Amino acid sequence: MRIDVLTIFPAYLDALDLSLVGKARRDGLLDLRVHDLRDWTTDRHRTVDDTPFGGGAGMVMRPDIWGKALDDVLATESLPAPAGATPAGGLDHPASAAAGGLDHPAPRRVLLVPTPSGDRFTQAVAEDLAGADQLVLACGRYEGIDARVAEHYGASPSVEVREVSLGDYVLNGGEVAALVVVEAVARLLPGVLGNPDSLVEESHGAAGLLEYPVYTKPPVWAGLEVPEVLTSGHHGKVARWRRDQALVRTARRRPDMVAALDPHQLDRADRVV
Ligand code: SAM
Repeated sequence: MRIDVLTIFPAYLDALDLSLVGKARRDGLLDLRVHDLRDWTTDRHRTVDDTPFGGGAGMVMRPDIWGKALDDVLATESLPAPAGATPAGGLDHPASAAAGGLDHPAPRRVLLVPTPSGDRFTQAVAEDLAGADQLVLACGRYEGIDARVAEHYGASPSVEVREVSLGDYVLNGGEVAALVVVEAVARLLPGVLGNPDSLVEESHGAAGLLEYPVYTKPPVWAGLEVPEVLTSGHHGKVARWRRDQALVRTARRRPDMVAALDPHQLDRADRVV
């Protein structure tokens, strides 16, 4: 997968050299590039913002600078082969249709615009984005990016635009959101996690639950013992205990998730907590 992050603070993204994402980049599993938006300015002060039409506080990022930058990074000809080589965006996606269907599917390019007024970024969104060929993250600053940028690229048959929010609070810029999106998506790419089984029972996965509590050595710490079943060696009992704990934890902390469970996500031994 190719990921491009556009920002006026490239150093903010230095953390993407670390840990599993950094390793994925070095191993060639992820082609991640961070660009300084100011490289597309032409004035002496490298200006990317201006006062808002209609008045009011703060500054707004200019669409013409964003347009030049996005045109350049979205024009990337060659993209890494998609994981699993699924058709771009599905058969009914305009990008596939524009390229003539399954034989030569167009790359699926997604322009992500972090904004507190966007759709909530969830694990399901991360899973969907992990199937894209190119993600472009446009990190806003000040009062945000001129609204015509999302409108313009949203009208393009070759780009999907997603305005996403991390949650109901306001950050100073989109860089933290970009870090979150890149990490959540990258760990879903084949080969990025050392043990892909780690993904199976995780919170917000296919089970629709939070994960059960986890423990390691020592067996007694601060007077607290590890639940006996976990040292019993009885795999069936361990699995049942974990399932029960996941249900209890989810019911207590996120009753909305329990209410949203499909009947097929429950097994016959599940009890209402
Ligand atoms: N004036 C905007 C509003 O009230 O909706 C907030 C702009 S915020 C100060 C500057 C930038 O931070 C946004 O353009 C966006 O890139 C990022 N940002 C702030 N909060 C965010 C959130 N909850 N989720 C995603 N991005 C966020």
